[in-house]
Amino acid sequence: MVERDVIVIGAGVVGLSAAIAAQSRGFSVTVLDRVGPAAGASAGNAGAFAFTDILPLASPGILKKAPKWLLDPLGPLTVPPAYALQIAPWMFRFWRACAPDRVAQSTAMQTALMDLSKAELEPFLNATGTADMLRKEGNLQVYESDAEFRGSLPGWKAREDHGVAFRHVKGDEMAAIQPGLASRFILGTFTPGWYSIADPKLYTLALADHFRAKGGLIETGEVVDLKPGDSTVEIRTADGKTRKVGQVVLAAGAFSHRIAKTIGENIPLETERGYNTTLPTGAFDLRTQVTFGGHGFVVTRLSTGVRVGGAVELGGLQLPPNFKRSQAMLKKAAMFLPGLKTERGVEWMGFRPSLPDSLPAIGRARATGRVIYAFGHGHLGLTQSAGTARIVADLLSGQTPSIDISRVSPQRF
Ligand SMILES: Cc1cc2nc3c(=O)[nH]c(=O)nc-3n(C[C@H](O)[C@H](O)[C@H](O)COP(=O)(O)OP(=O)(O)OC[C@H]3O[C@@H](n4cnc5c(N)ncnc54)[C@H](O)[C@@H]3O)c2cc1C
Repeated sequence: MVERDVIVIGAGVVGLSAAIAAQSRGFSVTVLDRVGPAAGASAGNAGAFAFTDILPLASPGILKKAPKWLLDPLGPLTVPPAYALQIAPWMFRFWRACAPDRVAQSTAMQTALMDLSKAELEPFLNATGTADMLRKEGNLQVYESDAEFRGSLPGWKAREDHGVAFRHVKGDEMAAIQPGLASRFILGTFTPGWYSIADPKLYTLALADHFRAKGGLIETGEVVDLKPGDSTVEIRTADGKTRKVGQVVLAAGAFSHRIAKTIGENIPLETERGYNTTLPTGAFDLRTQVTFGGHGFVVTRLSTGVRVGGAVELGGLQLPPNFKRSQAMLKKAAMFLPGLKTERGVEWMGFRPSLPDSLPAIGRARATGRVIYAFGHGHLGLTQSAGTARIVADLLSGQTPSIDISRVSPQRF
């Protein structure tokens, strides 16, 4: 079954990339979003194509760090008491995914997805006229002690085993990569294969412009349910309208499980809420993206400013944001990057769409082959957008994707 008309639900980086990939295969594509392009996590993220980040967050390493982090209500990882009960089943699955054999399987899957996404990225940027937004400035992860550095070594060994290039640096070599770091950071690891985008919101909007220029439609509407029929899927929106279409791509980020539920599928999607502050351009002379791994945040140079952010708050989709978290990261950043100008920052909170094993859900719905899921990329939605788009276009075309996607099957839970 290859139906040529497609509706993509969600105009974030994943939905728009998939829409463009489908359009380039000759499908007639409409994107439907309740707000419009770049309304969700794709707008405010840290802008990294973190291709070397192949280790799942669900791993024994995080289990070691989590108890200490959880003690600090403004630290890298928080569970607001008001959401603790709701998130418990997800955390249990997360804990189960930390078993060594599961971590090995997830790492292999993540590596395949990263390799595909990296291979697809530059052709995709060229085709969409966005290649000038790509920055190949790498990433510098910094450590405050020998113990912290040694603790990171098993992770680097695992990356090395999967062909990731990096080098450990210190002293002048580290200062040459990123001048001006506080002296408390005595060691670092530089990964040159880590890229970034000039600005993730401008990139997503540029994808929307490209899609429209090629004849694609972007419509506004909040999808409330899907009804699969024999030869179409009916999409109903909150304004009472219905649309019938041959194939649907569900890419509504952290809200996707609500729509999947309307066709009888329970997907344990949760959100890891993340925070940041974007300072004006020139707030610091950043040469690379810097990761303060022990503190759970990064500092990124964008064309539109300097973005300080990260952290994980397992607080669901309803609780109001707690911007004390972005302020706490900014305060630390000012200590770690002496001279950082912290005035006139703009705060933001976004919903990472996260599944408990740190892998996305890409594949057909159980109820109907006419609905393809593409969500749950967690910390890596921008990074894996071009690879996901390729897989979605293959599935829409009735082709077997170039990598084995059984480990990201939506039915794996
Ligand atoms: C602080 C932070 C930093 C991050 N840094 C990075 C990074 O450096 N690199 C990286 O790769 N990833 C990063 N991420 C993760 C990344 O932002 C996400 O994985 C990615 O943006 C998800 O894209 P998406 O298109 O799936 O979802 P979104 O961008 O959230 O888009 C979903 C869209 O669906 C729409 N929608 C929702 N419900 C409905 C409905 N019912 N009907 C119609 N439309 C609907 C929304 O309006 C939205 O436009 C970060 C995230 C955060 C929070």
